[in-house]
Amino acid sequence: MKHEQERSPNMNTITTPTQRIVPEHCNAAVFEAPNVPMQFKQFAIPRNLPPGSALCRIRLSTICGSDLHTLLGRRNEPAPSILGHESVGDVVAVGECARYWNGAALQVGDRVSWTIMASCGECFFCTHDLPQKCIHLKKYGHSLTSVWPGLTGGYAEYIFLYPGTGIFPAPAGLDDAVIAPANCALATVVCAIDSIGGIAPGERVLICGAGLLGTYLAALAKEAGAGMVMVADINPSRAEAIRHFGADTVFTQSPEPDAVARWARDTCGGEGVDVAFEVCGDPRAVTASMEALRIGGRLLVAGLVSPNRCFSVDGNTLTRKCLTLRGIHNYHPAHLGKGLDFLAATAGKYPYRDLVTPILDLDDIQRAVELAQTGASARVGLQCSKTGL
Ligand SMILES: [Zn+2]
Ligand SMILES: [Zn+2]
Repeated sequence: MKHEQERSPNMNTITTPTQRIVPEHCNAAVFEAPNVPMQFKQFAIPRNLPPGSALCRIRLSTICGSDLHTLLGRRNEPAPSILGHESVGDVVAVGECARYWNGAALQVGDRVSWTIMASCGECFFCTHDLPQKCIHLKKYGHSLTSVWPGLTGGYAEYIFLYPGTGIFPAPAGLDDAVIAPANCALATVVCAIDSIGGIAPGERVLICGAGLLGTYLAALAKEAGAGMVMVADINPSRAEAIRHFGADTVFTQSPEPDAVARWARDTCGGEGVDVAFEVCGDPRAVTASMEALRIGGRLLVAGLVSPNRCFSVDGNTLTRKCLTLRGIHNYHPAHLGKGLDFLAATAGKYPYRDLVTPILDLDDIQRAVELAQTGASARVGLQCSKTGL
């Protein structure tokens, strides 16, 4: 990437209150079609920011599995677009009254994390505590580059943050790579736990899926005082890695519902599992969880995000066992705040930094995508700017 523009004294640049010079243009990797390498293009950096909006220089982004689905054509997304929604960046310019989620003024120079979406605050869903389902929702990494402001994805040097985005300070002392994926997987599972009534001390927890959602979930469950954290995932290396994040025991032998349920019930003993989470994308996990749950147990489904994820459930089981079945998709901005607080509080306890490896330059995005596809690590990182403020 070329950064010469930033040093040119003759350019028509804007200067922020901290004298950070923002160039007129920046680079971004553009997704044009599935199975076609992304191409770098120059974009005009938005000027005259609208009230409530902000401009960030992206420090680091991580490659989420959902972007791999888009890149490989497993789901349809608008194109051309700048993908990437898991990022951390420095505020370089603010619109009038730009604020953090807690109402504090957003300052140029702050290192921040932000929600994967912006909401209007006024529609039916926004006023019914579901801003993540806002009728006018804008999601980062999902917008056409031809529509202003264009720079709304994480695989770029700069990003425009819409008014209505939940913006939070990045906890001091935490590595960029620890913070970047918090606004997707971590905030989602914080929402998952919140939505299922929390995890009470001593409860026996079954997590189906040892990906990044399951990994954060294990740590959250452990810290909530779970009596036993059980994880099922047929990938042995992922199942092994999750032991470092609070999992007490893992099951890798079979994804079949009967086998998973039998193992879970035998392992926890007593009446069965208190609370179960499907975070693997495999609908069989729902069937397994319902069999494993005790009477009065709760099941949260968060991973069935592509169409036709059908599962078979005996309604008799749901009724007679008095089960709670709940789905969630994305999260409320408050969940990102809780997730960041959790990371800051437990950073010395769990090896979050190891989840993001390797970290390549944004220029190397194609190689990074190829590495991400191998699934060897939970996330591959992209360093999007070479220097901080
Ligand atoms: Zn993501
Ligand atoms: Zn709304």
